[in-house]
Amino acid sequence: MEQVVFDSIKVDLVKKDIKNIYLSVRPPDGRVKLSVPKRISEKQVRHFLLSKTEWIKKQKQRCLTLETKKKCKFLEGEKHFFLGKTYTLSIKYHFKPPQIKIKDEKYIQVYIKPSCNTAFIEKLVISWYREELEKIVKFFVKKWEPILNVNVKEFRIKRMKTRWGTCNSLAKRIWINLELIKKPSQIIEYIVLHEMVHFFINNHGNDFKELMYKYMPNWKTYKLELNKS
Ligand SMILES: [Zn+2]
Repeated sequence: MEQVVFDSIKVDLVKKDIKNIYLSVRPPDGRVKLSVPKRISEKQVRHFLLSKTEWIKKQKQRCLTLETKKKCKFLEGEKHFFLGKTYTLSIKYHFKPPQIKIKDEKYIQVYIKPSCNTAFIEKLVISWYREELEKIVKFFVKKWEPILNVNVKEFRIKRMKTRWGTCNSLAKRIWINLELIKKPSQIIEYIVLHEMVHFFINNHGNDFKELMYKYMPNWKTYKLELNKS
């Protein structure tokens, strides 16, 4: 088995006695396997992968989302991401309303009643994630509105399987993936800007890239970092 790297995606290449090309992205780690007929040229392989890049990235993201969901049980001592750093989940009991905060830059500290179960903790952490992401997205929207001279009518934090953000340029609305709260804030800013730039340009062509370079010269680094995960 050979391995080729295409657009920073590692692909296991298997040459077989077959007539067609078979592509798969498999859980849990999003491994990409490409089975091709023996006589196919390298150029044909690259051409095929180019046509499937978006699809592969989406499938890889889906695997990752599935995996993190499976792993998190919301138990004491478990590791959780928040703004690009890992924190340890710490559960303390009290008889007041539930509370959650970052403690000593190391812990996601949850205070709950002793009668609460892990499903409750999960809900609490997720709604806290949502509130925190809302604050950050709002901050970046406000920052970029005057620079781009646009008005974001509405933004929402959504649970999305395959995308970090989407936008409706007519309604001037953006949706941001809740999972982004696990990424560093520069990356959240990149996605907010990316979606806002779509208000002017609907695709990812040269005009789009030019605007991204103008406003955020580093955007490609952030994009690569997101695709890696
Ligand atoms: Zn886009």
